[in-house]
Order: sequence, then structure tokens, then C-alpha cells
Amino acid sequence: MHELSVATSLVDMACEKAHAMGGVRVEALHLRLGPLSGVVKDALLFSFEVAAQGTPIEGARLVIETTPITVLCPTCAEERVLASAQRRRCPVCDTPTPELTGGRELELRALEVWEDAAAHR
Ligand SMILES: [Zn+2]
Repeated sequence: MHELSVATSLVDMACEKAHAMGGVRVEALHLRLGPLSGVVKDALLFSFEVAAQGTPIEGARLVIETTPITVLCPTCAEERVLASAQRRRCPVCDTPTPELTGGRELELRALEVWEDAAAHR
């Protein structure tokens, strides 16, 4: 299952970072996920829980931010947001826009650690 291998590498990455930060407790992982990344959000959430079990980050939340599908319109010379990947045309001038500039993201944007919360007290 594709999502499980993605989840496992996220868990590994988070464990490494937490260790590098002095063994802090990870509260949450913030992930940016594009609709065209090929990863199903719900499946990833489920796989993440499974993958995190028995690791130092067990119990951490996975927070997924879905990114928009964006294209570069050659006519407008501007980045436009598409409502759906099925129709790859500029929503403003209707020019075909084969060049995707966003929507395939799969990146770990931030780690929320226990220390951060303590620092604000
Ligand atoms: Zn356009």
C-alpha cells in the first residue's frame, strides 16, 4: 500500500528530527498534500497511526493541509488556481494550461513539539 510507505517515511523523518532536537516530544506533524500527489488523505491518516505505533512519536497528530491545483497560464502570464484537474484550462481566458505549478505537493512543512507549548507559558 502506497500510503503506508509514505506514512512510514514521515514517521522516520519526524523521529529523526525529534531526536536531533534533543528528544523532544512531537505533538503534531504538518503536511502539505496536493490533490495530484497520488496519496489519498484518509488512507494516509490511517496509515500514519499504524506507522507511528511503537515509535517515539506515537500519539502525534498528522495535520494535513490540502494545497490547490495551480497552473501557469501562458496568455495571462499568471498563476491560476484550477477547480479540478479534469479541466486544465485557464479559468479567466480559457487557454489550455498543461503546465502545472502546484497540486503535487507531499511535504512535511513543520513539526509541532512539546517544547513550543512550554515556551509560551
Ligand atoms: Zn489565462
